Amino acid sequence: MSVTDDRPAELAPDGEPATTHVDERQARQVAEAARETTWRKPSFGKELFLGRLRLDLIDPPPTPEPEVAARGAEFLAKLRAYAESDIDGAQIERDAFIPDEVLRGLAELGAFGMKIDQSYGGLGLSNLDYCRALTLVGSANPAIGALLSAHQSIGVPQPLKLFGTAEQKQRYLPRLAAGEVSAFLLTEPDVGSDPARMSCTATPVQGGYWLDGVKLWATNGTLATLLVVMAQVPASEGHRGGITAFVVEGDSPGITVERRNAFLGLRGLENSVTRFHQVFVPTENVIGREGQGLKIALTTLNTGRLSLAASCVGAGKWALGVARQWAAARVQWGLPVARHEAVAQKIAFIAATTYGLESLIDLCCRLADDDRNDIRIEAGLIKLFASEKSWQIADELIQIRGGRGYETAESLRARGEKGIPAEQILRDLRINRIFEGSTEIMHLMVAREAVDAHLSVAGDIIDPGATLGRKAKAGARAGAFYARWLPTLGVGRGQLPGGYADFGALAPHVRFVERAARKLSRETFYAMARWRGKMERKQGFLGRVVDIGAELFAMSAACVRARISGDPAELELADLFCRQSRVRVDALFTALWHNTDGVDVRAARRVVEGRYAFLEEGILPLSDEGDWVSTWEPGPSTVEDARRRL
Ligand SMILES: Cc1cc2nc3c(=O)[nH]c(=O)nc-3n(C[C@H](O)[C@H](O)[C@H](O)COP(=O)(O)OP(=O)(O)OC[C@H]3O[C@@H](n4cnc5c(N)ncnc54)[C@H](O)[C@@H]3O)c2cc1C
Repeated sequence: MSVTDDRPAELAPDGEPATTHVDERQARQVAEAARETTWRKPSFGKELFLGRLRLDLIDPPPTPEPEVAARGAEFLAKLRAYAESDIDGAQIERDAFIPDEVLRGLAELGAFGMKIDQSYGGLGLSNLDYCRALTLVGSANPAIGALLSAHQSIGVPQPLKLFGTAEQKQRYLPRLAAGEVSAFLLTEPDVGSDPARMSCTATPVQGGYWLDGVKLWATNGTLATLLVVMAQVPASEGHRGGITAFVVEGDSPGITVERRNAFLGLRGLENSVTRFHQVFVPTENVIGREGQGLKIALTTLNTGRLSLAASCVGAGKWALGVARQWAAARVQWGLPVARHEAVAQKIAFIAATTYGLESLIDLCCRLADDDRNDIRIEAGLIKLFASEKSWQIADELIQIRGGRGYETAESLRARGEKGIPAEQILRDLRINRIFEGSTEIMHLMVAREAVDAHLSVAGDIIDPGATLGRKAKAGARAGAFYARWLPTLGVGRGQLPGGYADFGALAPHVRFVERAARKLSRETFYAMARWRGKMERKQGFLGRVVDIGAELFAMSAACVRARISGDPAELELADLFCRQSRVRVDALFTALWHNTDGVDVRAARRVVEGRYAFLEEGILPLSDEGDWVSTWEPGPSTVEDARRRL
């Protein structure tokens, strides 16, 4: 969590990107430079971490324009009919392949242009309906949801919508709306969470750039005809340099799709290793400006992360349906298994959490559509919370299903039972905790934003690299800020017995959220005072702070939704969710200061040094074939192109 520094990625003096010897500080500077540093709009999440429950920012949630809502409803009805009649999810899973006719059918419906404005031939759906569509179509097969989401949330349409020139939009958006598939290529063998190591280069030449490099794990990469590619431009005369985003024609000479990758889940995913060898990209294909690539990627992801959460909501709904029916039908020890307390707890968790997740996604989409609020913290929280919680839901579902949970749908069907793919859903969901910002990175990212208010006044005090003079100035600034701010954390509406009475039976939960937000802020402040510059290394602490924030946000969303609905069943679900969430929050608060974090860090060091290698004896040794991380040599491809053409 280093202090804001707007410098672009460090480049070596000879103009080559300094990719192989990027130290920790440089890596952080690159991430820092990509951050949006200003807050122009209010943020519920930011206020929450500062100890202020600003319900007015989310209650009532914005409502979509009637015309937009009607358009969305019409599309959703068509998509549902198509998914029911024409998408065979089991076949996609078996063949690890989404048939051409399904992709064409989706294109005809306009599914590739859901987020593209009508003026470019798209459907111009709201985020709310886009996410509902992904929830729906992902329930037919999650790989289709991932394909559409990668295409529209991180692929070419969204960065062009936000940062493209009029000419770029005119040229590419109609093609994409009509069904051409796009992909987003940032990751490389040596670039995962840390983009500073990027070795793909864009060398300025007459009229454009030469792209060289190898990109890994590009979802849709085997199919895509338009790519967003992130590459390092070396700084030189007339070139600011830095990581830059380009729109690239997938068919450009010099591009080879070298492999289609296969995974634990999402078997239908069309995911590639793609090589670029002296691929010419004209200057007009730069998105934004040179050096803005990561900022563009991060801004794009703000709303992009909502679509990942939408697929998690779909999984929760599906798990709930299976749990409800199966646990009532399956009788063991004289009772339906739903009546055994251990199983009942799991069913209640699935129901409550699905309600919490849906409330969150619904609220975040409305906030994104309304555009009055900054949702970067909320989008991070929902990505984190939905991917973690839906994974737990799938795991609990498998337990409820017993041996059948572990059996494949095909095997179940072959024995004459319902082909319920619980194990597939578990496998399909697992990636959500890794891509589009892993859980560990989301913790750091949200924590960085959450304590931004502190850093903006106290940043230099806790920056180990700041001079004494800067630290002293920051100390004076911080003193004035905290003198005003700290007293506000002592008392609040959450302590009044009648506070938030308009929430009826849910009022105690809202009061809890208000008190917990203030407590969270106090604990964060205390930790900053205690650890100062070392705070950024306290990932266990920061992760729990963020997890508490996510729970409080989810409780707020559930209470607001249930109060507005007034439906007794919804009020029950919101109450259930909040009760469970409060238990988790209490445990997280306890673990802030009672944990094994320091011990674990020291133990991990000893593990890595090999002190406990004896514990690995008694099994066959690991194969020593291949490298841990592959390296690549520049030059033309030596393998056959694995591209899939529609
Ligand atoms: C199925 C699939 C689809 C994908 N689709 C795309 C795509 O379309 N486009 C694209 O560009 N990429 C894509 N990716 C790549 C994906 O975004 C990366 O896997 C992800 O960013 C994590 O990078 P990594 O796997 O290299 O993990 P690493 O960065 O090597 O991380 C390894 C572990 O260390 C943790 N870690 C790393 N840094 C830190 C830190 N500072 N603090 C704490 N923990 C840390 C990580 O969380 C993780 O647990 C895809 C990957 C998969 C598997």
